[in-house]
Amino acid sequence: TGTLFIVATPIGNLSDITQRALDTLNEVDLIAAEDTRHSGKLLSHFGVKTKMFPLHDHNEKQKSQLLVNKIKEGQNIALISDAGTPLISDPSYNLVNVAREQGVAVVPIPGPSAVITALSAAGLPTDKFMFCGFLPVKQQAKITEIEAHKQAIYTSVFYESPRRILDTLATIQATLGDEREVVLAKELTKHYEAFSKGSCQSIIEWLNEDTDRLQGEMVVMISPNKEEQGLSAEADALLRRLMQDLP
Ligand code: SAM
Repeated sequence: TGTLFIVATPIGNLSDITQRALDTLNEVDLIAAEDTRHSGKLLSHFGVKTKMFPLHDHNEKQKSQLLVNKIKEGQNIALISDAGTPLISDPSYNLVNVAREQGVAVVPIPGPSAVITALSAAGLPTDKFMFCGFLPVKQQAKITEIEAHKQAIYTSVFYESPRRILDTLATIQATLGDEREVVLAKELTKHYEAFSKGSCQSIIEWLNEDTDRLQGEMVVMISPNKEEQGLSAEADALLRRLMQDLP
């Protein structure tokens, strides 16, 4: 039988494609893509001539089994999404799940993802983080989600649309307070890549300084709650002291 390769593609800068991704895309029998027109541009840029197969949210359930059957018949298939790592706030969970359930080999070909790229340069703690994908659009659901991070001992990471970013920052400010440190990462790996770090108020002001800043793809990161951190550091110190007295 064949193999299902999960291939990460660039999130902006095309030079971020990996050698292994290119080799895989060239060698497989079929590339399952979220949007074949969009991915067609990427593939033609790299001279990849492999046939494409559309697999999006609306047809995933029916098409997953069809693709898995092709793999069982011996075909190798690569899965790509519009950008970054497939399945990370992207479709195709069903395909990978069905493939594994039916004993088909699934091989990841790692590469860019906006969540890891943003965290790596934000200057927030990364020993623990929680990735929450896109924030809910409805206001009450958004408040409930943000409230859940009030006592967080980890950095919280969200994807957000530029249309909602000002409202979302105002909601974080109102829900968690303006002391909470936030980082906004924009247009990662692209020409206008930018980071803004500080209070929600300072980031709102930074965005409003230049309307161009209100465009492009964005990642929002919320720092851990400092008091919770402080408390655990205190508890840690106490534990260390007590341990010295142990026989
Ligand atoms: N699978 C992708 C990944 O691995 O990051 C994410 C796909 S999700 C549909 C698209 C969202 O990811 C965007 O709305 C934005 O929040 C974030 N994103 C993708 N590329 C980005 C970039 N170059 N800079 C900042 N955020 C990005």
